[in-house]
Amino acid sequence: EPRLVLITGCSSGIGLALAVKLANDEQKRFKVVATMRNLAKRGALEEAAGDALNDTLEIKKLDVCSDSSIRECMGSIPGRHVDVLINNAGVGLIGPIECQSIDDMKGVFETNFFGVVRMIKEVLPDMKRRRRGHIVVISSVMGLQGIMFNDIYAASKFAVEGFCESLLYQTMNFNIFLTLVEPGPVVTEFELKVNEEAIRGDYSKTDLETAEMFINFYLKNTKAIFSSLGQTPEDVAEHILRVITMEEPPFRHQTNQVYTPVTALKYADPSGELVNDIFYKLVFHHDTLMQASLRAIKLIRWKAHKVQQGARMLGLI
Ligand code: NAD
Repeated sequence: EPRLVLITGCSSGIGLALAVKLANDEQKRFKVVATMRNLAKRGALEEAAGDALNDTLEIKKLDVCSDSSIRECMGSIPGRHVDVLINNAGVGLIGPIECQSIDDMKGVFETNFFGVVRMIKEVLPDMKRRRRGHIVVISSVMGLQGIMFNDIYAASKFAVEGFCESLLYQTMNFNIFLTLVEPGPVVTEFELKVNEEAIRGDYSKTDLETAEMFINFYLKNTKAIFSSLGQTPEDVAEHILRVITMEEPPFRHQTNQVYTPVTALKYADPSGELVNDIFYKLVFHHDTLMQASLRAIKLIRWKAHKVQQGARMLGLI
């Protein structure tokens, strides 16, 4: 019996790539409900799905910001039975906060945070009753570490991480798996959309120094990082496939190993000094992410050594 996988935000990027990959699984392990806010944008997915369309892949309308849209979609699924929920829909927002309205910011939270909460609220009761299921949330490395000019986006992903961390103990008790997938840069429309908006942006509400910092340092640097380390949506889809087919899926899964040392450093040094220094150099000294990652590994070793010395002094080891 194939597992029913419901994915949000399938008109482009990671959602589209994942829907296509799962629907074309050679072992036919999945029945995919690929959802999107705007069905007028179904063309790309229909084309990529090929023969899987209306066989192992069904396209349905679902806006994660609308309770009625979610209920309608869920109501059309036999027995409302979802084995795997993949919360993928998300929006970005970059730039100086002085140039963003509170409504823009609320919009990000409405999709990235409340969208996830709404979906989970909708499937959780059934999964609890069946004591079975897997909820996957596409977070980001920015759910673990904030990055300059991503203040609100990172905050929305931090919110998602805190929500899932808290919910985890319940889901564990009901035998439901919960996984946060944390990609680094992925080359999708996401970055394009966000960059286009940024370039067209009006920076009169901030000072010249900040505007220049954003345009000359942040945007250039991000471009370089995306072209050197950006993964493809298919890459990330492969990671998600692995996660949902594991016997014991992990709570957290990073898709880009280059980031792991940097995020680990945050926990190795609770003062934040070391990781902040790395990010400062990344932005203002044009360090590459690879250089930052290698420095983080060295610093973690040094920190571990210090911790060990301390423990020895206390007679703990
Ligand atoms: P994308 O823009 O191609 O895909 C996001 C999808 O979500 C789009 O199809 C969009 O239409 C949809 N969406 C937006 N609002 C929606 C709503 N209210 N209801 C339903 N669908 C909605 O970008 P992507 O990179 O494929 O992003 C997918 C996820 O991956 C997002 O959660 C994003 O935060 C996360 N992510 C992306 C990157 C990256 O670098 N691209 C990195 C880490 C995490």
